[in-house]
Amino acid sequence: MDTYDMIVIGSGPSGRRAAVQAAKLGRSVLVVDKGRRLGGVSVHTGTIPSKTLRETVLNLSGWRERGFYGRGYRVKQDIVMADLIARLHKTLDHEVEVLQHQFMRNAVRSTKATAKFVDANMVALTTDAGVHSEVGFTNALVSVGTRPFRPHTVPFDGKRVFDSDDILELTTLPRTLTVVGGGVIGVEYATIFSALDVPVTLIESRQTILDFVDRELVDDFMHQLRDRGVTLRLGAAVKEVKVGPTGVETLLADGRVVRTDILLYAAGRSGNVGSLGLDTIGIKADSRGRIEVDPQTFQTSIPNIYATGDVIGFPSLASTSMEQGRVAACHAFGVPLPPPPATFPYGIYAVPEISTVGQSEEEVRKSGEPYECGVARFRETSRGHIMGVDSGFLKLIFSLSTRRLLGAHIVGEGATELIHIGQAVINLGGTVDFFVNNTFNYPTLAEAYKIAGLDAWNRMGVG
Ligand SMILES: Cc1cc2nc3c(=O)[nH]c(=O)nc-3n(C[C@H](O)[C@H](O)[C@H](O)COP(=O)(O)OP(=O)(O)OC[C@H]3O[C@@H](n4cnc5c(N)ncnc54)[C@H](O)[C@@H]3O)c2cc1C
Repeated sequence: MDTYDMIVIGSGPSGRRAAVQAAKLGRSVLVVDKGRRLGGVSVHTGTIPSKTLRETVLNLSGWRERGFYGRGYRVKQDIVMADLIARLHKTLDHEVEVLQHQFMRNAVRSTKATAKFVDANMVALTTDAGVHSEVGFTNALVSVGTRPFRPHTVPFDGKRVFDSDDILELTTLPRTLTVVGGGVIGVEYATIFSALDVPVTLIESRQTILDFVDRELVDDFMHQLRDRGVTLRLGAAVKEVKVGPTGVETLLADGRVVRTDILLYAAGRSGNVGSLGLDTIGIKADSRGRIEVDPQTFQTSIPNIYATGDVIGFPSLASTSMEQGRVAACHAFGVPLPPPPATFPYGIYAVPEISTVGQSEEEVRKSGEPYECGVARFRETSRGHIMGVDSGFLKLIFSLSTRRLLGAHIVGEGATELIHIGQAVINLGGTVDFFVNNTFNYPTLAEAYKIAGLDAWNRMGVG
């Protein structure tokens, strides 16, 4: 029986990063993944496909230029699904190739099989052909991720009713679309299709969408969605979904009915723990398949078995998953690490983008900290004028007692890139004076930081 210093189950962002880190520390590593190709949800059905789709839609629809040339502007007149899929496959192939090369360079071995724990130092591997083998390990990492939650009341068929995995198999663009779920995935897909001028109805059982984001941003975002024809059905629970020969009928608990060509159900995900044999070794998962870990080390209740990524729950991002994998591998092989930074950014690749770091205004208010905000609209920047940007803004929140930046929140073009300035200032303990005293490249959208800083500084008084 082969034995490895570390076995990694799942080749998504956290498994990949852990495997490479362990290998760089000179350890023997085997990555096991049951998927057709390496890369996990992130590469095949989640982050990369949705972002590639978004980029293709923005390019072909001429979305970024519409502020200048009007809503009727298009780069390509008749956009069909094949246009979107072609770029998708090319990008995914490239991602897999880079990952395989990275594993090869670092002598990380990988195998396609389903892993199941036999005991706390051994896993059983089963290939699709039914071939069994056993492999020993000193440390194991469970990075098996999640899959879309599919309630039995929703008639998923991959033809009219989709989840966020099989929506990528669409062969023709829908004439109309219902999206159930006002979280990140639902909002991203709703706005991507809306950018293609597909009429979209977004249904959310809570009273608002993206409930963890600063309210002012969400209000502005929802205003933009309504302005371009997205129908929002908030506080509306889905009672029944019926598939007919010409479309899907969604009955809401409040009596309303939504009729569209197809429906995307994107409300929740569950951990892939079913086939892992966790019971055998005494690791527990909750009802949504999430494994509890030590938040600093990512050890499960069995010290040499770690869990990272979406299977441990919040925040369930590729970005944070990668970092968790690295931390787990370092801990497993005795490499000390400093405590993690106070904040990490959230990127929501909707159209328009949203990105946020640190505390929202609601959180600051709840904490009782006296604060002041500074706001800059992208249309106030010269770069915004050049780009024809007519919406989007940056909001900074500062403590009145320490003058420190507490939160940065952006909706609009480039938000997911621009946010890192706010992240750096927050995590380095910077104050409003950083923005006021520093020179920013001109003309840039980043100049909005200077404008928002000055806006807050004027209201805060000289410190
Ligand atoms: C539509 C969508 C859009 C997203 N967009 C973003 C984004 O823009 N930015 C961002 O940061 N995050 C985004 N995410 C989240 C991101 O994809 C996840 O946080 C990330 O993929 C989680 O990584 P992971 O390491 O947990 O493993 P995953 O990527 O979930 O991969 C897990 C792997 O484990 C394998 N596996 C499962 N069980 C077994 C077993 N028993 N044996 C062997 N292999 C097994 C699976 O085959 C899979 O390959 C998005 C997710 C979705 C669904």
